[in-house]
Amino acid sequence: MSKNPYSKLFEPVQIGPVVTKNRFYQVPHCCGMGHVRPRAHAAMRGVKAKGGWGVVSTEEAEIHPSSDLAPYAEQRIWDKKDIPALQLMTDAVHKYGALAAIELTHSGHNSTNLFSRIPAMSPNAQAVNFLYPKQARRMSKQDISNFRAWHRQAALNAKAAGFDIVYVYAGHGMSVAQQFILPDMNNRSDEYGGSLENRLRLTRELLEETKEAIGDSCGIAFRFAVDELKGKDGMQFQEEGRAVVELLAEHPDLWDVNVSDWSNDSQTSRFQPEEAYQMPYVEFVKSITTKPVVGVGRLTSPDLMVKLVERGALDLIGAARPSIADPYLPNKIKGQKTDQIKECIGCNICVSSDNFTVPIRCTQNPTMGEEWRRGWDPENIKPKVTDQRALVVGSGPSGLECTVQLARRGYQVVLAEAEGKLGGRVLFESSLKGLSAWKRVVDNRVHEILQKSNIEVYKESRLTAEHINEFGVNNIFLATGSNWRKDGIGRSRRAPIQGLESVKVYSPEEAIQNYKDIKGPLVIYDDEQGYLAGVVADHLNAKNIEVVFVTPASVVSPWTDSTLEQKKVQASLINSGVKIICNQSISNIEDGIALLECTYTGAITKLPCESIVMVTERISDTALYDSLMQNNLEGKTQYNIKIIGDAEAPGLIADAVYLGHLAAQNFEADEEDIQRGMFMREMPSLK
Ligand code: ADP
Ligand code: SF4
Repeated sequence: MSKNPYSKLFEPVQIGPVVTKNRFYQVPHCCGMGHVRPRAHAAMRGVKAKGGWGVVSTEEAEIHPSSDLAPYAEQRIWDKKDIPALQLMTDAVHKYGALAAIELTHSGHNSTNLFSRIPAMSPNAQAVNFLYPKQARRMSKQDISNFRAWHRQAALNAKAAGFDIVYVYAGHGMSVAQQFILPDMNNRSDEYGGSLENRLRLTRELLEETKEAIGDSCGIAFRFAVDELKGKDGMQFQEEGRAVVELLAEHPDLWDVNVSDWSNDSQTSRFQPEEAYQMPYVEFVKSITTKPVVGVGRLTSPDLMVKLVERGALDLIGAARPSIADPYLPNKIKGQKTDQIKECIGCNICVSSDNFTVPIRCTQNPTMGEEWRRGWDPENIKPKVTDQRALVVGSGPSGLECTVQLARRGYQVVLAEAEGKLGGRVLFESSLKGLSAWKRVVDNRVHEILQKSNIEVYKESRLTAEHINEFGVNNIFLATGSNWRKDGIGRSRRAPIQGLESVKVYSPEEAIQNYKDIKGPLVIYDDEQGYLAGVVADHLNAKNIEVVFVTPASVVSPWTDSTLEQKKVQASLINSGVKIICNQSISNIEDGIALLECTYTGAITKLPCESIVMVTERISDTALYDSLMQNNLEGKTQYNIKIIGDAEAPGLIADAVYLGHLAAQNFEADEEDIQRGMFMREMPSLK
């Protein structure tokens, strides 16, 4: 067999006293599990180790009650009582020969301390980073000394919990060490403020003290944001970012470098389509230190990974999101099965789950977050129970996922799609400005479908109940999707908008398809308040259509706050000249004039409107389901019918994929097992 072209990626790398077996490094990432759900956390990280990652890290781990991140479910290492829960994770990771890393964190004024109720503290007295009318107090010398002692103790406790790599953390605007380094957060006049050497003093002490405490057996990693992407108003990689690396070059055993804040580090593909987008900022680091360097930037392509190592940009391929989308990415590269990689689409649904403080989920990988609760693993699914066949109707994300997983289980599957192309809503959404990477949801699955001999695909086949009778298949999965409604019913108005017959009303798909025919003034009415209306506005605007964006929400696309995009969405619309009208619902339309009603006062204003794109709610397409159920009810048929995805209840693409996967997993499963999976949760011990 020829040499694996990616063998460079499977070389061991020394990190202080420990050695990672390969260059695949799952950098710290949040997951909505943390100390609140330790079993789920351990199982999730364990699957990454099983998938071949050489290093698997925790998320932020609070080191003391004075840095309490509640309500967010991050990791916790306040004292020895946290060791057993963390040991679950290190054991799960070690089981597969990976190293376990922990990101020790004191968040300074990035914590609100809502649980501990202790005032937060930071270099200066300043407002906490969360929208809460509270301020952090200025750290005294005694506080600094206490903090160093807590950090040292946390490092010792981390070693006791079995961690191989322990972080000193100065990134994302989320750590007190970084807050000391940044001049706009540190106006001290003592030896911890002023010159860069002074502002770096605390970090240097942390690195030295951590090394002294546990450096004999643990690698000490330093996670540092070299640039804040604020130009001269913040840290820049050619200026102080570089100086920090020069001053501390040989201090840590590993440099983990990125850009700050979180929204810049985890940019979505909508606003940053480039893979390896952080390289221009971090690539200099290796020229300064002899220590290994890990960097990130949605690195998914094995060819690029090899190039980055060969050209000396990185020693270790860092990944948060690519490891979430495909925990088996290293093993697939090792086995030269790169066509099977589930590529991250850069949608940040994973990030949104941490922001909603629920266990992590992923659009591409529906098993993510379900490793413990349901025992799911992205590459291993239980085999079929009988030789029954299945028919899946509809090839959107739900139908595609259901088809693939049923086939993986070994069932014979027929997939029927009304249109000439497979993909459903993803084909439309990925055609919009900035969303082309979303097409990977379809491409990865269609690729697998084409490889499988137990799947028959029928395109251009809009099935009716009669057609289904002809198939002679008893198990029917209906993934027939949903359609945007055009009557104005949405989040803030449960009755249709009156007078719509006097204007041209478009669904989002119709507006994009027929944009050349649109007559202005065009209103995009967003009463869904998710992401789509903002994308449609951006898209039409780029086609030189003048757009007025009206929403009852107080900002554009408020949901996108959870994916770290909202500010970029609003800026994009403002910069491209879209007129934005917030806090207004449309009550009715009369003679080309939309009557806008203030959501607070009810006051009415008038807006010229000849055409309108409705982004309000969707209606599930249940026609086929209803007729099949009716036939069952009348005793004409006895089908086993399951409605899935947007046809069951419209949601995110991630929800549709998940429901397709769930249906495939639950097919011919024991009802007791299905119920157990649903009711599993981690209970506090009452001992
Ligand atoms: P989901 O997100 O739940 O997967 P989509 O709306 O993306 O849903 O996809 C639904 C797909 O189902 C569309 O591609 C649509 O063409 C197809 N479809 C709807 N009704 C039928 C039918 N009766 N027969 C075959 N395909 C259908
Ligand atoms: Fe990538 Fe989206 Fe999955 Fe996050 S949720 S890992 S961004 S595909």
